[in-house]
Amino acid sequence: MQPPVYLDHHATTPCDPRVVEKMLPFFTDVFGNPASIVHEHGRAASRAVEDARIVIARFFGVAPPEIVFTAGATESNNIALRIAGRNDHIITSAIEHKSVLAAASESGAELTILRPDRDGFIAPDALRLAIRSHTKVISIEAANGEIGTLQDIPALAAVARERGILFHSDITQAAGKVPLDLRNVDLASFSAHKIYGPKGIGGLLVRRGIKVHPLIAGGGQERNIRSGTVNVPGVIGMAAAIQLRAAEMAEEAVRLTAMRNELWDRIVAEIAEVSVNGPRALRLPGNLNVSFERIEAESLILAMRRFSLSTGSACSSGERGPSRVLTAIGVGEAAAMGSIRIGLGKSNTAEQMAMLVDDLARTVTKLRQISAA
Ligand code: PMP
Repeated sequence: MQPPVYLDHHATTPCDPRVVEKMLPFFTDVFGNPASIVHEHGRAASRAVEDARIVIARFFGVAPPEIVFTAGATESNNIALRIAGRNDHIITSAIEHKSVLAAASESGAELTILRPDRDGFIAPDALRLAIRSHTKVISIEAANGEIGTLQDIPALAAVARERGILFHSDITQAAGKVPLDLRNVDLASFSAHKIYGPKGIGGLLVRRGIKVHPLIAGGGQERNIRSGTVNVPGVIGMAAAIQLRAAEMAEEAVRLTAMRNELWDRIVAEIAEVSVNGPRALRLPGNLNVSFERIEAESLILAMRRFSLSTGSACSSGERGPSRVLTAIGVGEAAAMGSIRIGLGKSNTAEQMAMLVDDLARTVTKLRQISAA
């Protein structure tokens, strides 16, 4: 049997072989500790890390020292949100990644969690109204990993800037997929494995002058924000992945948007009692989220053996129950439990989409017959 077609590119992506090739010498040849600048082995590693930092900073339109390397976006989100403490107030949204909401909650700060509209958008006016005298950090993601909503980050960040409040954005799902304007953004979290880079490496944009409390004590690497020997091969891989996205992202976005829209239209045309969650425009190119009435998403995914799909619900992370994101945009419990997330990526083809629609139509019909019997 052929391996299943991978349609879960929001969860992670395969490492691009060109990225792996760039990383390999940094396991064996350029293996020095970049902090060991007293010798050439260390300096060679340090130069490579600083060159990578320049590539990444240029891609985001920021200064190289503003990029801090971390082990991924979960860690970056934790560092960013813990800038707030007990006497502070944080504003975030109900559709953020768990790592933002959990870190915000653990910071001890007072929380305001904004509800998005039916398509997942946070209105700048709603944000403005939530600001209090002790608001320290506002954290709104650039793109949602379940329903693909692309927020108007410049407008939201401008609200924070007006009031002198720090603005953090989790750009993990958006970076390298759609253009981003980070001009008024003070802090931003990203991760390499969502864009065909390696797992376990990410970064946090930290503007100059922002006081950050390190999560771990140690040798003071990365501006004393993230102690620990820098993951040199990871950093090289992340820069290589970003460089490839810079060259290929625009064309890929057009291709995936067209493929996604056609898939959307065909699913709605060929399968009864379906609805699509999230916006049609201002959406991540490869994202589709569909609710099938009278279907349990988990059963559907298990039956769709030729594809690796994901539920729109949090079941995958061990929690049962409807997706927090779908609930927040007003999708009812039954529709949320019958929703799947389709995450298209580089390797997907029109032929696979035709096969997907056929398999979905057949499987949905069969499951509905079984449940009606
Ligand atoms: N934020 C968002 C929006 C994500 O989609 C993810 C990955 N699921 C993360 C943060 C966490 O990233 P990492 O796996 O690098 O910790």
